[in-house]
Amino acid sequence: MVGAGPGDPGLLTIKGKHVIENADALVYDYLAAEPIVALAPPDCERIYVGKKAGAHTLEQDDINALLVRLAREGKRVVRLKGGDPFVFGRGGEEAQELHAAGIEFEIVPGVTSGVAAPAYAGIPVTHRDHNAAVTFVTGHEDVKKQLSTLDWSKLAAPNHTLVLYMAMGNLAAIAVELMRNGLAASTPIAIVREGTKPTQHTLVASLGTIGDELQRAPVAPPAIAVVGDVVRLREELRWFDRLPLFGKRVLVTRMASGSLEFAARLWEAGAEPILAPLIRIVPPEDPREIRRAVADAGAFSWIVFSSRNGVDAFWSELRARGRDARALGGTKIAAIGPKTAQTLAERGIVADFIPSRYVGESVAEGLLARTEADERILLFRAQEARDALPDMLRGGGRSVEVVVAYRAVRNEVPDLAGRVANSDVLTFTSAGIVRSFVAQLADPVAAARGKIVACIGPVTADAAKAAGLDVSVVAEEFTTEGLARALIAAPILR
Ligand code: SAH
Repeated sequence: MVGAGPGDPGLLTIKGKHVIENADALVYDYLAAEPIVALAPPDCERIYVGKKAGAHTLEQDDINALLVRLAREGKRVVRLKGGDPFVFGRGGEEAQELHAAGIEFEIVPGVTSGVAAPAYAGIPVTHRDHNAAVTFVTGHEDVKKQLSTLDWSKLAAPNHTLVLYMAMGNLAAIAVELMRNGLAASTPIAIVREGTKPTQHTLVASLGTIGDELQRAPVAPPAIAVVGDVVRLREELRWFDRLPLFGKRVLVTRMASGSLEFAARLWEAGAEPILAPLIRIVPPEDPREIRRAVADAGAFSWIVFSSRNGVDAFWSELRARGRDARALGGTKIAAIGPKTAQTLAERGIVADFIPSRYVGESVAEGLLARTEADERILLFRAQEARDALPDMLRGGGRSVEVVVAYRAVRNEVPDLAGRVANSDVLTFTSAGIVRSFVAQLADPVAAARGKIVACIGPVTADAAKAAGLDVSVVAEEFTTEGLARALIAAPILR
């Protein structure tokens, strides 16, 4: 039983990540973030059991029975629950069922929303100057009910923080009850909705005013309410909703395998990445070219790797031949981009040349300066790459062999139009991705209207402009890190 944390996938524990990555079956509900569910291995059975107030997909008994059945099938089952499994999440009940059925289990605690959502709103649930106690309360119970298990007269104490879960339906009545039991009407209260997510929204009021505020603008769950003087600290400690890209939804169109770091970087800046991989990498139509080039690697004085994919393609052929990095012993290596250089370094190769700009023209200049006429240069690259680099090298009298190491082909994205409509920013990291975007939408220009279009470099930007898109951000360094930095710095995104 694993706590998924409150929303920000970065708040999953390391142990939680480990068990999800090794699960045979994953049973999760609506509070579990998509990137966490995506950690499960491809052959893991994923079962969504819903559970939004009023819209239960499976009843609790059915969930219990499901867990027991999966475990009896001999599977390693992860029951993923929002926040912490044992905090107002019925995790205790589910564990009791497992115990009764004789099934072994482990609990991986999670970051509970009652602490995390206030923290992301700049509210510490305890502070030496304000309180010596904090109580976690379920607001689910009807306060007027005779049989209520909560004694509000004990909960209404100054110097005491109350953290209310599931309280949106009863909050106005709870505020009245707290005042009736002695708390000042001026006692501050904060509501943090969708805490730790880019959609986080915080409302600050007082016990005396919250009823009216909610009447005017009701807050839908999931939300945490915090009552107590610590709420005032938000004025000083607010941080998350001040992040440069806070609340911005950014369409990430790179291939899936290459987008994780970029997406993580966007999260760090407060944005919500919306994944729509418009291309995927496949082997070349004719694999013989790679075979010949790898067999003959020693005959070149330079090999140029244009991307991580090229390095991967080269190494899988090298391995297939039972060889290793020594095949490149006498050959100099150029790596275009820091990720390419890093991938080579992981294989024991320190690149001899890493151009400072990642367009063909700059790479050609650097290589011409480092080689003599007639030297043999091998370019290991994508099928769709531009010809500027080989043309300039040949123009300088070099002997150039171009090998298609991989192809970037169109990847059909389900509901691309919906994802685009949901985004504030569209990012493009290659001309091929722009072409795939254009090909998959009925009216790409209309779809992009009013959105901020951001490109990794001038070549991609030219492709976007040629497609009729209005490009407003172009990275200065042609990497995804450079693109993230350009977005963070863009005045248009302030
Ligand atoms: N086990 C969970 C709580 C489940 S009860 C935990 O430890 O966090 C569901 C309630 O949790 C919601 O009604 C809401 O009050 C709270 N909650 C869950 N995720 C939240 C989030 N991201 N922001 C604010 N409140 C959240």
